[in-house]
Amino acid sequence: MPSSCPICSKPSAAATAPFCSVRCRQVDLNRWFTGAYAVPAVELDDVDEEALGEGSDPSGNDAF
Ligand SMILES: [Zn+2]
Repeated sequence: MPSSCPICSKPSAAATAPFCSVRCRQVDLNRWFTGAYAVPAVELDDVDEEALGEGSDPSGNDAF
């Protein structure tokens, strides 16, 4: 099944699949890195706090 290079739409080579050449692979890698840097970092501290709150189990709560 022939696939085309996502960068220049040329037929991809087996050695550099799914890209047609090493150059196109580098271009895609560059795009990926620049995109990763553009994404803002998510604060995971809030998630941790929530998890700790769920952990507290109020035992000995016997009304009636
Ligand atoms: Zn290409």
